[in-house]
Amino acid sequence: MKDSLVYLDNNSTTPVDPKVLDAMLPYFTQHYGNAASRSHAFGWIADEAVKRSRAMIAKFIGAEDNEIIFTSGSTEAINLAIKGVAEAYHAKGKHIVTIATEHKAVLDTCKHLESLGHEITVLPVLEDGMIDLNVLEKAIRNDTILVCAMLANNETGVILPIDQIAEIVHAKNSLLFCDATQAGGKIRTDVYDLKADLLCLSAHKMYGPKGVGMLYVRRKNPRVTLIAQIDGGGHERNLRSGTLNVPGIVGFAKACELAGEELMEMNGTISILRTRLEQAMCDLGASINGNIKHRLPNTSNLTFHGKKADEIMKAIPSVAMATGSACSSALPEPSHVLTAMGLKEKDAYASIRFSLGRF
Ligand code: PLP
Repeated sequence: MKDSLVYLDNNSTTPVDPKVLDAMLPYFTQHYGNAASRSHAFGWIADEAVKRSRAMIAKFIGAEDNEIIFTSGSTEAINLAIKGVAEAYHAKGKHIVTIATEHKAVLDTCKHLESLGHEITVLPVLEDGMIDLNVLEKAIRNDTILVCAMLANNETGVILPIDQIAEIVHAKNSLLFCDATQAGGKIRTDVYDLKADLLCLSAHKMYGPKGVGMLYVRRKNPRVTLIAQIDGGGHERNLRSGTLNVPGIVGFAKACELAGEELMEMNGTISILRTRLEQAMCDLGASINGNIKHRLPNTSNLTFHGKKADEIMKAIPSVAMATGSACSSALPEPSHVLTAMGLKEKDAYASIRFSLGRF
């Protein structure tokens, strides 16, 4: 049965690359020490592996080793970034700006802070999923402590001009958090180019294991301060306590190394396949959602006018595809991303996301 299945849901999660698994395996059974154990070789070996991995991941995003905080994935990194900044900068202000098409991990974290007395501005998007930079500029105030903008949208693949957004945010003396989860391994995520102050990645979106991710926290120009959201043994420079997931971190680093090596080559092949898929679907009357110029090479969000996405998916169970994001696909509501882009509810219900992958 499984051999006849077609997996077109790589934005939800990717298979682990066999080379990633090979790198991880010794850290389950052979080098199983706790990276925080300072008194014996088991701990030193694990700590060495974490150090090596941290350097590989830092290199992948153009950061310094000590700017990487390991987490359990992007949802946790997002919570640490937004809540951590909100707590650390409360004397400066309580205003945060985000965008209507952000992932629920960002929007719900902001909602939580709103319930605690923060003020949240949610910027609208244009029909193609991009934002109006003038609207962003006007929304940032003296008491704005953080702007949250994703690099690539998980549902449409639309890529925002993070470097331009960063310039506006910095001119207004605020900080920029960039959710680069979907961009990781698909397009460049160099923090120097993007000029982001905080940025997250998740291993399972880029052929690494589930349950591990990271938050980049800028240390210079400006140095970003955070308040930890998980207290305990003071791991990760007191910013995220908890025993490190050594095999996961090793796998994450290997996934970054492979992505760095194979990025351009993979993108070419994947986007050719995506074009073939879209041409075939558009010949049947489907239309593409999102800016087609500024888009991830693997993602295609299509509206099948007059149809219902869940019925299409039920009729073709051998193809794995998605409506909305996996994290919210249990909800019967239409995609908040597509409705924010101005799609009518019936068109949002008629839309399917196909996300192709390396395998
Ligand atoms: N941000 C984006 C854009 C995502 O697509 C996802 C996962 O779907 C997340 C955050 C959450 O990532 P994780 O599964 O690592 O918690």
